[in-house]
Amino acid sequence: MMSELVLKKISVRGVVQGVGFRPFVYRLARGHELAGWVLNHSGGVEIEVEGPAAALAAFVRDLQAEAPPLARIEGISIADCPPNGYTTFEIRRSVAKAGRYQLISPDIATCPDCWRELLDPTDRRYRYPFTNCTNCGPRFTIIADVPYDRPLTTMRDFVMCPQCQAEYDDPLDRRFHAQPNACPVCGPHIWLVPSSRVQVSGSNLKPETVKPETDDVIAQAARLLQEEAIIAIKGLGGFHLACDATDEAAVRTLRERKGRPAKPLAVMMTTLEEIRQHCWVSEEEERLLASPQCPIVLLPWKPESSVSRLVAPRNNYLGVMLPYTPLYHVLLRDVGRPLVMTSGNLSEEPIARDNDEALSRLGHLADYFLLHNRDIYARYDDSVWFVPRVSRFTFHASRSDPKPENLKPETTLSQPIRRSRGYAPFPVKLPFRVEQILACGAELKNTFCLTRDDYAFLSQHIGDMENLETLEHFETTIELYKRLFRIEPEVVAYDMHPEYLATKYAKSQITNCKSQIAVQHHHAHIASCLADNGWSPDDGPVIGVAFDGTGYGTDGRIWGGEFLVADYHGFRRVAHLEYLPMPGGEAAIRNPYRLALGYLYALTGRLPRFRPLSPGAGAGEEEFRIIRQQIDKGINCPQTSAGGRLFDAVAALIGVRERVTYEAQAAIELEMAAQIQYPISNIQIMGYPFGIEESGGGKVIRLRPLFDALLADLRGGVAVGEMAYRFHVTVAEMIGAVCERIAQEAGLRTVALSGGCFQNRLLLALVVPRLREVGLRVLLHRQVPCNDGGLSLGQAVIAHFAVGGDRIE
Ligand SMILES: [Zn+2]
Ligand SMILES: [Zn+2]
Ligand SMILES: [Zn+2]
Repeated sequence: MMSELVLKKISVRGVVQGVGFRPFVYRLARGHELAGWVLNHSGGVEIEVEGPAAALAAFVRDLQAEAPPLARIEGISIADCPPNGYTTFEIRRSVAKAGRYQLISPDIATCPDCWRELLDPTDRRYRYPFTNCTNCGPRFTIIADVPYDRPLTTMRDFVMCPQCQAEYDDPLDRRFHAQPNACPVCGPHIWLVPSSRVQVSGSNLKPETVKPETDDVIAQAARLLQEEAIIAIKGLGGFHLACDATDEAAVRTLRERKGRPAKPLAVMMTTLEEIRQHCWVSEEEERLLASPQCPIVLLPWKPESSVSRLVAPRNNYLGVMLPYTPLYHVLLRDVGRPLVMTSGNLSEEPIARDNDEALSRLGHLADYFLLHNRDIYARYDDSVWFVPRVSRFTFHASRSDPKPENLKPETTLSQPIRRSRGYAPFPVKLPFRVEQILACGAELKNTFCLTRDDYAFLSQHIGDMENLETLEHFETTIELYKRLFRIEPEVVAYDMHPEYLATKYAKSQITNCKSQIAVQHHHAHIASCLADNGWSPDDGPVIGVAFDGTGYGTDGRIWGGEFLVADYHGFRRVAHLEYLPMPGGEAAIRNPYRLALGYLYALTGRLPRFRPLSPGAGAGEEEFRIIRQQIDKGINCPQTSAGGRLFDAVAALIGVRERVTYEAQAAIELEMAAQIQYPISNIQIMGYPFGIEESGGGKVIRLRPLFDALLADLRGGVAVGEMAYRFHVTVAEMIGAVCERIAQEAGLRTVALSGGCFQNRLLLALVVPRLREVGLRVLLHRQVPCNDGGLSLGQAVIAHFAVGGDRIE
């Protein structure tokens, strides 16, 4: 008996183009002996498929279950129609539909199949640095517009050879419609040139060691790296500066030239096995390292590692990644040791992108340039992630008998610190539909966010908005996202800080937008954490704890140790750290000893006779006098409640760090000092005292008891690590105690933790169990950074509700 034929029209939304989806559908349909067609259009993939009902049901099931690795299906709609009498299954030509947009795949690390070809001497792509297929390779960095087809990418200048074209045309080939498909015959190529410093100066690296480009360029570069050279390498989304990570002299030279004395540098290692020789790696960390996104992961650094300590001075963690392009795979194997891979830029400028730009901007930093001729469209830094180990620390100091349910292992949640390569421009899915909004983000670690439908397109890491180069990168990237995702924002959101470049940009957009919404910094942090966790507006307000270094408050002061009762609509500031002076403003941020002195003077009314600071550091008599004057007269002495500044002040007071050369250095080193003292935290250590005072409807956390106790410990000669550890316990206890009270008073059960202080693993390990013990649910970031890199997401969702977004269905 013939089974009856059925026809289904299927449309699939999500990342379904440029990822091998059509050939997958083609093979699937043929496998189930079905007829019909599949095609790409600007909004996704459409399928008509005809055959017996049972085979069709299996087809629909497999369509979702067996989709190619890079595909992200966001939605499928299926309609039954009368059969059409198709006899074959075919892939039809793409059609453009006006106004429609599609999600764009991020760049993806080299897949295992390409990797095998790369290392196979008999393969025609042996050691070819631009090998890719539909499952891997560049996407976002080479695309100028949609639909994603070769003429709209920076591959348009390379005409495929007959062999590559045949792969491209064959639906059963792994390179079917792989837009960047290339080989040594027809594709881009690399070459090596000495920098001006090698050509001009008397470097011990001689330019004549570079041979003509017909030679094996990667092998030459590897030899130079083994001989202490610093090479600027054109990568996927910009230049890296590379040197031998085990060679102290090379690392020191790189730091000196880059003007970056202490900020940790990232390291690339060849395999997971090699990483395990240098770092402890958990299962979750392994999964991240080897994922198609291939981010830098911060890993606990083994003391026996041969990587130079100068790579991350005074740090217990090393930022490590695996090679993610064919060039890096081959180079790392040739060099045979870990390589420093840091962004090719001068301190805080954006990463260099074009050959000419790099040769002029990086000429004095590198000895050689490893260049190629595939243009980069979008600058794209490496992403950085970490895995907080909350589950290991279920104990809390003041509670000796934790409830059994608190000892259950928690799902370890990984968090980005910088969200860029491998992630952007993939959107964060929102639990509600939104207007078209542009949120301009913050000053440091800037990202912006554009929204439409239920997507928040958070940009890749833009950088610190402190120079015109970064501002230009910000503006051109906004234009790119608007074009790619067909967004014309009618609402623009920005931070309340009047001096932020992003805020000034937002205000200049008045003619294009119907409304402008100023958003308080810490409210944006909490809203970002809520949106990150898919929090529905119907779920009501939460207790938002926003601890960071700086954020403009509604009273014009600098906030950053904030407890808010908040939802997307608004917030109430229900508690905060007490205001303390920052003598010299910015100077106090760069010189935490000024904060220590300012805090002590304000809290105790005097500057201590003895010098709590380590010898040779901090202020002399004259500076003491100026600081006292600044505080007494309130000259250039802003008041702050920032948690980050409290960490700075304590770090300086106990002699960990008096001056910083990068953001959060003092706080990071304070955390490291505590971990060295107590690498395993299942020890009962009490925190220091503090006060909680009711004041005008809110609570203020009083810090004098804490500083008195620290001074007593200093006089008593208590070890720095112990003081550092007890301070962390204190902050966790402050957050715990205040949240407990707010929870009772406001009847709330959920706490959202956001702000840069929550990158501190020790603090997380102490505070999360503390909150859970009293039955509070804790929301941590998962997809976007808790630091200011995630701020624009919060600004966007707040702006949506501020303009009456409730009514959008
Ligand atoms: Zn591949
Ligand atoms: Zn070719
Ligand atoms: Zn912040």
